[in-house]
Amino acid sequence: MSRIAYVNGRYIRHADAGVSIDDRAFLFADGIYEVIEVFGGELIDETGHLARLERSARELRLNLPAGEGALRLILRELVARNRVTDGHVYLQVTRGAARRDHVFPRAGTPATLVAFAHRGDRAAAEAKAQAGIKVISMPDIRWKRPDIKTTSLLPNVLAKQQAREAGAYEAWLIDSKGYVTEGASSNAWIVDEEGALVTHPADSAILSGITRARLLQIAAAKGLRVIERAFTLDEAFAAREAFISGATTLVMPVVALDGRKIGSGAPGSVALGLRAVFHDFAPASP
Ligand code: PLP
Repeated sequence: MSRIAYVNGRYIRHADAGVSIDDRAFLFADGIYEVIEVFGGELIDETGHLARLERSARELRLNLPAGEGALRLILRELVARNRVTDGHVYLQVTRGAARRDHVFPRAGTPATLVAFAHRGDRAAAEAKAQAGIKVISMPDIRWKRPDIKTTSLLPNVLAKQQAREAGAYEAWLIDSKGYVTEGASSNAWIVDEEGALVTHPADSAILSGITRARLLQIAAAKGLRVIERAFTLDEAFAAREAFISGATTLVMPVVALDGRKIGSGAPGSVALGLRAVFHDFAPASP
């Protein structure tokens, strides 16, 4: 069965899908995106992801080419056509194709809308969570608006590659004051020495994760203490536990940071506990 993608109103074979070389995302990374988990054939927290897409569009003065209802239909169609039970859908909107010029194209230039789906391996993800991941730290060299989910991800790409080459899965980005902002493609959390969950506030220094927001709700329901404040690398080294969150990783325990063990060096019970109940709380959107 060949994979099927969606490009500007058409469902086509993924291998044949393409956009213009004049597309603004190709030339300027002038686009926004979302990644939504598919779990048991359902889109998880779709409402939050689509709301964030709208916010990203607003912040960049980019017109979404389809309304929320149409976007939901497209994503469902992709899940069905690709027979995805567990995996993800990816949705990208760009400022369209126009002769190369930094300034916006003339009004009425249609935005580009691309979406595709991929299957995941639930068992492999669980095994990874039970083993835990390694993280390395590096300076956060991104622009000052990482709260917008743009396709402009070069610092994240470089950070992630550096992590991979160091035998780690994720990079934690450190701001100029020495605080951990977030991961290259995830939000960063610790469980401090008193047992409180600590994560950076959702200000302009991080992407306000949809998974992060859901975890805040779950933590509250479970009576866990949560403090939304920036933490330093030293606090992370001294933490009982650490983990990352995101639509692709859900809750993934961190067992080592810059080669130093976190806690006992094994996935922590808070992280694994949150992971275990995640889908009991995160709604499959109507
Ligand atoms: N932070 C960054 C930089 C990300 O790229 C992502 C996800 O891709 C996240 C955080 C987590 O966001 P979400 O939970 O919405 O997937």
